[in-house]
Amino acid sequence: MEGLLKKCLIGSHLQPCRFHHYDQSNRLLISRLFQPMNLREDRVIGLEGRSADMTCKSQRLMLQLGLIHPASPGCYHYLPYTVRAMEKLVKVIDEEMQTIGGQKINMPCLSLGDLWKTSNRWDMMGKELFRLKDRHNVEYCLGPTHEEAITDLIASQGKISYKQLPLLMYQITRKFRDEAKPRFGLLRGREFYMKDMYTFDVNEEAAQKTYNTVCSAYSSLFGKLGLEFVKVEADTGSIGGTMSHEFHLPAQIGEDRLLICPGCSFAANLETMKVNETNCLDGTSCPKCSEKMTEAKGIEVGHTFYLGTKYSYIFSASYNNAHNKPVVAEMGCFGLGVSRILAASIEVLSTEDSIRWPRRIAPYQVCIIPPKKSSKEEAAINFAEDLYDTITETLTPLKGEVLLDDRSHLTIGKRFKDADKLGYPYVIVAGKKLLEDPHHFEMWCQNTGETLFLPKEGIIEFLSKTSTVL
Ligand code: ATP
Ligand code: MG
Repeated sequence: MEGLLKKCLIGSHLQPCRFHHYDQSNRLLISRLFQPMNLREDRVIGLEGRSADMTCKSQRLMLQLGLIHPASPGCYHYLPYTVRAMEKLVKVIDEEMQTIGGQKINMPCLSLGDLWKTSNRWDMMGKELFRLKDRHNVEYCLGPTHEEAITDLIASQGKISYKQLPLLMYQITRKFRDEAKPRFGLLRGREFYMKDMYTFDVNEEAAQKTYNTVCSAYSSLFGKLGLEFVKVEADTGSIGGTMSHEFHLPAQIGEDRLLICPGCSFAANLETMKVNETNCLDGTSCPKCSEKMTEAKGIEVGHTFYLGTKYSYIFSASYNNAHNKPVVAEMGCFGLGVSRILAASIEVLSTEDSIRWPRRIAPYQVCIIPPKKSSKEEAAINFAEDLYDTITETLTPLKGEVLLDDRSHLTIGKRFKDADKLGYPYVIVAGKKLLEDPHHFEMWCQNTGETLFLPKEGIIEFLSKTSTVL
């Protein structure tokens, strides 16, 4: 094995390693991607105990197109396309969090039971907490959220100065919750990715300012992803605190009921309104401006909490003020369901049989389809490969973003249909117009629905203008 590895590494200077999905000329080939599309229906039904028609669009598309694969109830293998989209989503979230001064950390998933007993949540969380013991019989849980862990971390620093505040710390890690009804694929998993930020401030006023800053960063994030969202007043649930908002993507399969006022900016999760939830509340008067509100369903993709001193008091997370006296810090915590955002964006943007991604997180930006083998246009294959090389050599943002659909035993039509289903923002076909003079490719642009006929230079110029945001 070692010898093989060495050979592979040494060889990689001279020629591409043959153990990955590039061809001899370093082109990414679709035929080599791991994308299992023949999932047996009984696997889905067996694992989630429900029939295929009880799934939702995003789950169905992600399963059918080989983007995720069920492992156990509420747990999925993330396959290559999904991992690429997730990595891009994480990058956009990092940008937003770091713009407001967030520092990225990574806390262990294994969380000491004693911490949870200190905050009284060991009992309060009930069955939702995955609990386990080590060989010495010490109790742990798999972290569903990390208020205890971060507050203990800050408390253990002893002398934090007021000059170091506000402190904004965040992580993007797997979280574990023994959900009673895991469902809808990545929308409600038992193991999922969450971005959780925790903030520490000198007083209420400063903490309120930080709270608003993080909420604005969330709005900016959904804006960048091109997702319509609603920010609503929300319940503080088991996390606690005095004020809370949720960010929702309106969708029919959403599990939350929202009331939205068209007259002012008021919107709330029904959980917070003291009303009989079985009734339809369309037309209820807005508590702020009396306008008639409308009811909508939403997928909760983010949740912000103003915690005050709930955790900092218990764990003694204090800072030293200007007079060198210890003061308990004011806290906030801010969650984003990262894997849920990925699935929810597919849910709201896709058609019944074609995936649509927020442009910035599409797994690949361009798919090139060369002609079918033994067809009249076969000679155009060289044009397709040459275009591939020119794009990746000259357009830096598109490096690693272009796929060649080398399944040349299939017709262009069949491959184009697959490309449409997978939602590449640009699909370039090397068809019969390449053999005519002048040589033209056919480029389909997903966001406008247009098909352009352009020579190689035209394609490069077009892509150089549109790919700068990546
Ligand atoms: P829900 O009401 O949907 O169960 P929650 O209110 O319990 O969620 P929070 O504690 O607010 O969840 O967690 C922060 C964010 O993590 C949520 O806004 C959501 O986007 C995401 N999230 C929570 N539970 C899950 C889950 N089981 N699968 C995927 N994402 C989740
Ligand atoms: Mg919540």
